[in-house]
Amino acid sequence: MRLYVLGSGSRGNCCAVEADGSAILLDAGFSAREIERRAEAAGLDLTRVAGIVLTHEHGDHACGAPRLARRLGVPVLTAEGTWARLAPRMPCAAHRPIGLRAAVELGPFRVEACPTSHDAADPVALAVRTSDGTGVGVAYDLGRATTAVRYLLKNLTGLVLEANHDEMQLRTSGYPPVVQRRIAGSGGHLSNRAAADLLSELHHPGLSVVVLAHLSERCNSAFDARATVAPALQRAGFGGALHVATQDVPLPPIDVVMPEMMQLRLGL
Ligand SMILES: [Zn+2]
Ligand SMILES: [Zn+2]
Repeated sequence: MRLYVLGSGSRGNCCAVEADGSAILLDAGFSAREIERRAEAAGLDLTRVAGIVLTHEHGDHACGAPRLARRLGVPVLTAEGTWARLAPRMPCAAHRPIGLRAAVELGPFRVEACPTSHDAADPVALAVRTSDGTGVGVAYDLGRATTAVRYLLKNLTGLVLEANHDEMQLRTSGYPPVVQRRIAGSGGHLSNRAAADLLSELHHPGLSVVVLAHLSERCNSAFDARATVAPALQRAGFGGALHVATQDVPLPPIDVVMPEMMQLRLGL
């Protein structure tokens, strides 16, 4: 499985996974033209995209979806409440519901979702797996990591996880207290520290890739996010690759493969 991180932050989020000649977009939070531009720069062939999965309806996750779904002629996969908000903007798009009750199969991908704690209609975190046992989880805009999110993100090969703000930088950011409380509250965003704790808990021998995402430009930096998370992952025994997503430039494609030890254990 190959993971593309086309960009992440409060001004737009878009990732994709590719396997067996097929791909699936995970959020489309830039304009369709910008996603096309970034896909080309990263080497992602959008004609292979079989569907667009959206975590929630906020513009930084969904704004490019209507036009892109139409151009690519692919279905949009969202939770029911998210679709109720988005459907008027894409009357011609085919919708497939995702949620706790059933996984959705799309090409080589199996997409699972669970509710998250965020101030949107029906937000979800995602886990996408292929038949070879590899899987990538995407979880951002998490006020807090609920039991459901912790369960969904277990035993995945790659994780794209929010590390939104440094708690100290948020306190000294100049944001009014009410805004600070919203960002740090249960409907807001995970701090670097909370991301580090969650990753330590989720670590297992098969985890090979971690991407820190949705960094606040005002209250965080790639350096600070890494400095908080890397030691925690190291203590947990993580020997894989730690990346930090950026807002403006796609990351080079990331191969998500199971560590060799894990493949031996599973007899692959
Ligand atoms: Zn949001
Ligand atoms: Zn967001």
